Amino acid sequence: MTTIDQTPGNLTALLPSVMKFLDREPALLIDGRWQPARSGETFVSRNPANGSTLAKIASGDAEDVDLAVKAARRAFKSGPWSRTKSSDRAQMLWKLADLITEHADELAQLETLDQGKPLNVSRGADIPGSAETFRYMAGWATKLTGKTIQVGAPGDFHSYTQLEPVGVVGQIVPWNFPLAMAAWKLAPALAAGCTVVLKPAENTPLTALRLGELIQEAGFPDGVVNIVTGFGDTAGAAIAQHPDIDKVAFTGSTGVGKSIVRAAIGNLKRVSLELGGKNPSIVMEDADLVAAIPGLIQGSFANSGQVCTAPSRIFVHGSVFEDVLAGLSDGARALKVGPGLSPGSQMGPVISERQLVSITEHIEGGVTAGAKVTAGGGRLGTEGYFVAPTVVSNVSNEMPIAREEIFGPVVVLSPFREIDDVLHMANDTQYGLTAQIWTQNVSNAHRMATRIDAGSIWVNGKSMDIALPFGGFKQSGWGQEKGVEGVEMYTRSKTVVVAL
Ligand code: ADP
Repeated sequence: MTTIDQTPGNLTALLPSVMKFLDREPALLIDGRWQPARSGETFVSRNPANGSTLAKIASGDAEDVDLAVKAARRAFKSGPWSRTKSSDRAQMLWKLADLITEHADELAQLETLDQGKPLNVSRGADIPGSAETFRYMAGWATKLTGKTIQVGAPGDFHSYTQLEPVGVVGQIVPWNFPLAMAAWKLAPALAAGCTVVLKPAENTPLTALRLGELIQEAGFPDGVVNIVTGFGDTAGAAIAQHPDIDKVAFTGSTGVGKSIVRAAIGNLKRVSLELGGKNPSIVMEDADLVAAIPGLIQGSFANSGQVCTAPSRIFVHGSVFEDVLAGLSDGARALKVGPGLSPGSQMGPVISERQLVSITEHIEGGVTAGAKVTAGGGRLGTEGYFVAPTVVSNVSNEMPIAREEIFGPVVVLSPFREIDDVLHMANDTQYGLTAQIWTQNVSNAHRMATRIDAGSIWVNGKSMDIALPFGGFKQSGWGQEKGVEGVEMYTRSKTVVVAL
């Protein structure tokens, strides 16, 4: 039985700047001013490694959202931002990226405290990845162009399209990659010239708040970025239904995505959604297992499996099934689970008690239905919200454990014989976010990529590079983030025709 070492002396010491930040007065960023929620309400953000209180957070609601929207509208319509050149927007985005890099150690500690992931992951991936997002999108600020279009006889008309920022944008982000998801949302919106009301997840508001301070330091004018911390059914719902928000961008669960669509109907604001997944990963008989097994372990258990792209349904050709099952189970058992601040930890806790209960109930439901657990199987320890990396086999595609997004360190494996069968099972899901194919047969890889209903297909490895458009099919979402598609989503195209 793995024990979780929570000995304070074995944890990385907190930086003085982090301690100071945790002690700050709870505040929202509205119109360039840090202010308490109008209601005076606060809530606490907890450390998932031990359940302790980290910081007091302002609990914004509809009234605060309304003030933030007014500030964003003013900044968009008449403030300095409305006259800012695209090259100046690019420069501010670069400056912000530099500030993130400069404060990377501090941001990484805040992220690990709030979200739970190992410190080397926050420091090595989340924080530098967020800086890279701002740098990449800074480049698009100066490169958004329309087209000229020939109509009528030569000389009759001069017609062209121009791209304009869509306006005031509401952005609602989740708790699995708090800073990185805020960066995916903010960077393209600001590159396009929009103004923003951002709502971080109630579980993980810390890095977004620190980012708000850095945004001010980078020189963005007041009201361009407003940050309203609060709960989904109050602050989040107020953003989704606000009549003066032009677009809402959401990342989170499919259920909440649907409620956002319903709330957006009032003013028909644009909606983009990055939702759940139950992503098939197919291991063919000719796969290079030396690469596939570690790749699947990394994909399944990184961030404690709280990743919408995790390969949570693994289909393995019958001839190599036992090898892959054994390799994944051994790998899962070998992972060192512990607090993110413990230098040896490879996997941290899950985000909350609620999530812990939901994950363990999924596992128990699977076992009751006849599934077999070959690694892990439940909670680890009694302090904090740790779940053992869990590998499950003997499942059918009809069982809830094989159909529902668990959003935890749990993978299910099933054998297959024929390509047609596995493609059918891979597509037999309400979701369509990502899929993985492991094979050394290039022709099969491309043919299968064509036949899988998912927005991203990864063959023999994955990349989440910011240049790659990313979005889901079916109930995994609407629209694509990242790449030029990600910034064009924050623009509207106007057609201008001049009769000559
Ligand atoms: P989880 O339930 O696992 O926390 P969610 O999809 O609910 O995942 O959370 C993602 C984000 O959506 C969070 O910022 C959350 O506050 C927000 N949210 C939750 N419910 C709503 C809602 N009804 N309207 C708008 N935002 C919401």
